[in-house]
Amino acid sequence: MTARILDGKALAATIREEIRDEVSRFVEQRGVQPCLAAVLVGEDPASQVYVRNKQRACERAGIASQLHRLAETCGEDELLQLVADMNADPAVHGMLVQLPLPAQIRAEKVLVAVDPAKDVDAFHPENVGRLVQGRPRFLPCTPHGVQQLLVRESIEIAGAHVVIVGRSDIVGKPLANMLVQRGAGGDATVTLCHSRTRELADVTRSADILIAAIGRARFITADMIKPGATVIDVGINRTDDGLVGDVDFEAALAVAGAITPVPGGVGPLTIAMLLHNTLAAAGALI
Ligand code: NDP
Repeated sequence: MTARILDGKALAATIREEIRDEVSRFVEQRGVQPCLAAVLVGEDPASQVYVRNKQRACERAGIASQLHRLAETCGEDELLQLVADMNADPAVHGMLVQLPLPAQIRAEKVLVAVDPAKDVDAFHPENVGRLVQGRPRFLPCTPHGVQQLLVRESIEIAGAHVVIVGRSDIVGKPLANMLVQRGAGGDATVTLCHSRTRELADVTRSADILIAAIGRARFITADMIKPGATVIDVGINRTDDGLVGDVDFEAALAVAGAITPVPGGVGPLTIAMLLHNTLAAAGALI
């Protein structure tokens, strides 16, 4: 068996086209251009690349973008003031503070300061709570990208056993909550695994859909995959061989039924869903 490759890059391009059309209709009807403001603290090279990619994607979709940069040494108060200014700025519809933040700044204090109506990353406790209750305002971008990929590739989620490895607040936990909700894109039976899970390979081998969000290069080996399963690789790991996922892709190809590559899988979808949330924020705010 050779797994079907789930081309996240191509799907993201389709979604971005759809959003560009929606943005242009929105601008025509409302006379306002949606705007995303990003805050970047410090000089972390990966964060700089992510923020630049987000800005470029905005530009291509017809969404305005702002970048606010603060020094690595900046204080928590300075960042909180910037967030307050953006909360109050009617020209800003969506905002995000790029993580990770330097050690002197408490991320939870900053994320809770973002106006939930502008919180396009969906990290604010109010938005997390709404998601858990099944009435989300915004869906977090990476989990939403994974869900869109499954839905648009016609992979049956309802009734499937989904095993997610990784329980972070950014990927694993919200994704588990989304896939277990009632209705379209949900109704899965979800198992959420982490570093304390016993007999991990036995659990992953029982997955119809296996999602890896661990942050360890090629951690999921072929023997951890049920033949024919769908494998979604969220991981992005920088190695001497370049960017690789959390799944041993070459070996998994022979076992899985469908699989996302890294790069070109989940990553591009994350940005597409950020654009989606920014347009939604503008629509709700105006
Ligand atoms: P975190 O480091 O926050 O979480 C990693 C999770 O993996 C934790 O829950 C941890 O368990 C679990 N884990 C670690 N080691 C093991 C192990 N040996 N066995 C089982 N579970 C283990 O990572 P993130 O969720 O932020 O990111 C995960 C990956 O996804 C990274 O590679 C990141 O770069 C990538 N990513 C990609 C995005 C994209 O757009 N494609 C967006 C966001 C992240 P425990 O909780 O017990 O410590």
